[in-house]
Amino acid sequence: MKVSFLDLRITDQDEFNEIIETISGVLKHGKLVMGPEIETFEQKVSVYCGRKFCVSVGSGTDSLYLALRSLEVGPGDEVITTSLSWIATANAIALTGAIPVFADINDDLNIDPASVKKLVTAKTKGILAVNYTGKVCDMDALASIASEHNIFLMEDGSQSFGAIYKGKTSGSFGIISGISHNPMKVLAALGEAGSIFCDDADLNDRLISLRYNGTVNRETCMEPSLNGRMDTIHAANLINRIDRLPSIINQRRENAAFYDKAISRYVQTPVQKEYERDVYYTYTIRSSRRDDLKEYLEQQGIETKIQHQLLMPQQPAYHNNSKGDFTKGEQIVKEVLCLPIHEKLTKEQLTHVAETVKKFGPSIPQKN
Ligand SMILES: *Cc1c(COP(=O)(O)O)cnc(C)c1O
Repeated sequence: MKVSFLDLRITDQDEFNEIIETISGVLKHGKLVMGPEIETFEQKVSVYCGRKFCVSVGSGTDSLYLALRSLEVGPGDEVITTSLSWIATANAIALTGAIPVFADINDDLNIDPASVKKLVTAKTKGILAVNYTGKVCDMDALASIASEHNIFLMEDGSQSFGAIYKGKTSGSFGIISGISHNPMKVLAALGEAGSIFCDDADLNDRLISLRYNGTVNRETCMEPSLNGRMDTIHAANLINRIDRLPSIINQRRENAAFYDKAISRYVQTPVQKEYERDVYYTYTIRSSRRDDLKEYLEQQGIETKIQHQLLMPQQPAYHNNSKGDFTKGEQIVKEVLCLPIHEKLTKEQLTHVAETVKKFGPSIPQKN
């Protein structure tokens, strides 16, 4: 039996027809850039996240970079972030001219507030917290560090759209949130897309300007920036996708619950606290024999991913260009493995994955 890690095909006939109809609507009115669907999407998605404003952008990377720019992060500043994320998080900081400072992670794979605390200096401008694997960080602890030192807290919710922490939805934490809607993400577009959320009207205005070459009234350039606008076609399809989201998230949670029950005595499975509702962008297990387990699963037709082989500060781009403290993270990246968790998996496929993990035998890492 083959089990793919992702399946981005549109297999549901109703959804397929809806997409064709939606695209044809956009082709008929012809406003391919900044068409009316952009505003409709921004309104709908900001209500979903519990924010006043949304600025749609071209990618998750754009969302982070432009959000940092709107907070006036630049050369001479330090921004503390996690050591374990997709490299876009660190790149967004570095591209502003600021220095990324990498904090260690906890067993839940999210940034460790105790590590953040130790890294704050006079140059620290803010904290960029990534909700890794679709689990919101310990936002209360991070918010209190931020207010104690008078620095900003910003959220990278690229993996956590729809996740809940203490009754609040991802996208609503900190002064500003950046989120990716690339096709792999939980709220997925049909190509590259992202959005930025905030509650401050001035910040929102600044973001709108930064999104289009730093211009106001289309012509006057106030500061250099890039063109990071979302295509109308993506906004139009995302509007419908939001309605499909509850069933997508429920299915992922059901899949995760199935794995939890089946394999938690064999590998270390994700833990959800009573105030957390994770969305399982990835279902990341930890194994003391990770590479052998990956190979064993592959032999049984099961595709898995290591996210990530390297911490961000271990990437060549950041060898000489960063600071931090990430000893625990260095151990954890040797153990992580993402199992297929997507909503199109069948019960038979899930069972096949679980049974194969069991057949491989127990490999729970020692607590350190
Ligand atoms: C996917 C992702 C991004 C980048 O988003 P793109 O839309 O691919 O540019 C940034 N941060 C995290 C945590 C991500 O998972």
